[in-house]
Amino acid sequence: MRIELDTTQLEKARTLIAQANCIIITTHMAPDGDAMGSALAMYHWLQSTEHRTQRTDQISLIVPNAFPEFFNWMPGVEHIHVFEKEQELCKSLIDKADLFICTDFNDPKRIGPIGEKMVASSAPKILIDHHLNPVDFADVMFSFPEATSASEIVYRFITEDRFAERTKTTDAEGPLLLKDIATCIYTGLMTDTGNFSFNSTSCELYEIIAELIRAGIQKDEIYNAVFNQYSTDRVRLTGYALYRKMRIYPDYHLSLITLSADELDRYHYKVGDTEGLVNMPLQISDVYYSVFMREERAKPGTPKSRIRISFRSQGDRPVNIWASEIFHGGGHANASGGEIFGTIEQAVQIFEKTMQKYVKVES
Ligand code: 5GP
Ligand code: MN
Repeated sequence: MRIELDTTQLEKARTLIAQANCIIITTHMAPDGDAMGSALAMYHWLQSTEHRTQRTDQISLIVPNAFPEFFNWMPGVEHIHVFEKEQELCKSLIDKADLFICTDFNDPKRIGPIGEKMVASSAPKILIDHHLNPVDFADVMFSFPEATSASEIVYRFITEDRFAERTKTTDAEGPLLLKDIATCIYTGLMTDTGNFSFNSTSCELYEIIAELIRAGIQKDEIYNAVFNQYSTDRVRLTGYALYRKMRIYPDYHLSLITLSADELDRYHYKVGDTEGLVNMPLQISDVYYSVFMREERAKPGTPKSRIRISFRSQGDRPVNIWASEIFHGGGHANASGGEIFGTIEQAVQIFEKTMQKYVKVES
């Protein structure tokens, strides 16, 4: 389905951008390919175009915490500020901000401490997102749960604008997008659809991809950069998790993998090393639900470990209600997340106690 942006909202967003002096682009914690792609595409677009009337403006991209190294190749990553590592600088940028552009999240809670400061700020906010039920915190909202990714909405946002501009220029036959913008958008489309293996059947998606290729993206190189640059440790950790740690609950068509902080240490775990692991049990023919729990050691001053939980499912088997009602999270019907504070054993107990209620038992 084609994502149609409301023209009044578009006009409002353009005006806010034109008037802003100090723009902050931000995206969700533990940034994935769509978070990185949508935020960086906006960053490049704002840097590269002439639609800002203020020439003194400053555009900053702030993410709450570290992103995986396999995104280090993305154009513009060197400009990203990581709040957790550069708190003072980020706080001063946020204090100065007169516009926030938020991509790929629906609730200020998903950007941690940035969210608290952002909500407290009187600066206007533009939201570009594809998660269900967004919290009403933005002045302009482009919220499309039916979109493949936030990057798809960013594509529409940017190209709508370029269409308008292109009619005024002689470049009417040229590509709609600069290559860097196109590369970032493709990364978001590719990662949020599992390399076009789910949620990716619309003609419009492939029309967008055609336009991105016209803009010069190296599609196969992007795949290679994201999915074929793992460390030996990462691949061995995946092997260990699947061979030793995967439990199957056959009556529930359900798989559970847990990894403790000690186990992760053994494989020199780095951010992103378990990305995609939760999808792998779904490769088994009669597994329709997959859950993955990863322990993060307690931070100094806090007594309990954080158990980060990922949920995936296939077809008409929502997992977001389980994630939200029991694990303080939420998400899409087939891909959700949550957390609890305690031990892995406690998390597994809660999981086993509640699965009867939230997992559809079928023959
Ligand atoms: P992941 O398992 O990749 O961390 O998360 C999968 C999806 O679940 C994310 O794209 C996001 O939509 C959602 N999600 C993950 N964690 C949370 C959370 O704590 N709260 C909410 N509302 N959604 C989450
Ligand atoms: Mn996304």
